[in-house]
Amino acid sequence: MPRQAVIGLIGGMSWESSAEYYRLINQQVRDRLGPLRSAKLLMYSVDFGPVEQAQHAGRWDDAALILVEAARRLEAGGAECVVLCTNTMHKVAGQIQAAIDIPFLHIADSAGQAAVDAGALKVGLLGTAFTMEQDFLKARLTSMGLTVLVPDAEERQAVHRIIYDELCVGVISEASRQVYQKVIESLTRRGAQAIILGCTEIGLLIKPEHSALPLLDTTVLHAQAAVAFALGE
Ligand code: GLU
Repeated sequence: MPRQAVIGLIGGMSWESSAEYYRLINQQVRDRLGPLRSAKLLMYSVDFGPVEQAQHAGRWDDAALILVEAARRLEAGGAECVVLCTNTMHKVAGQIQAAIDIPFLHIADSAGQAAVDAGALKVGLLGTAFTMEQDFLKARLTSMGLTVLVPDAEERQAVHRIIYDELCVGVISEASRQVYQKVIESLTRRGAQAIILGCTEIGLLIKPEHSALPLLDTTVLHAQAAVAFALGE
């Protein structure tokens, strides 16, 4: 049997999406290696409360400390890579990377590569306000040759609110789905060729059948990148 590397997941932000990572990674390993095969992984799941408070207060260094500790614990426990199961907290990816000696699989790399592979060089980006308005993810996508469009201010506020008030607490509503669909339609009118679901919970609400444009779901693509790493690809 080929050796599988141990995947290290930093989860809990929110656990609604971490559960998806766990399911998707195991499903892919089963599909690739056989019905009774499953992934070797460790998950360190943080308490999202203090992280979310630090985000909204702009105390990113405090949030980074929590995630650096999680990454170090994963490495000490035998993880051979670190997968941070949230787009937003990639704002402090550099600090996490600097604290460990194992590879950090950046979420933007898998999404950006999927857009390039699909020939969708103009992408719409949905995520938290932090992800849509700041540069930490967008700059990485732009450096891959992509043009990144984000929703207008009012739409961004709605997209952000639905993530924290609903998706992160397990609420899936048809009304919110329609809000997202309208936002996707306006990004389409502005020339987007694909939509990056740049928040790991959005895939719980918006499925391919809800969008005329191809969806690049960071949760699915990041999970795929983790499996590729584990299988030595
Ligand atoms: N999981 C979300 C993301 O991918 C939002 C929660 C968070 O702020 O970490 O950005």
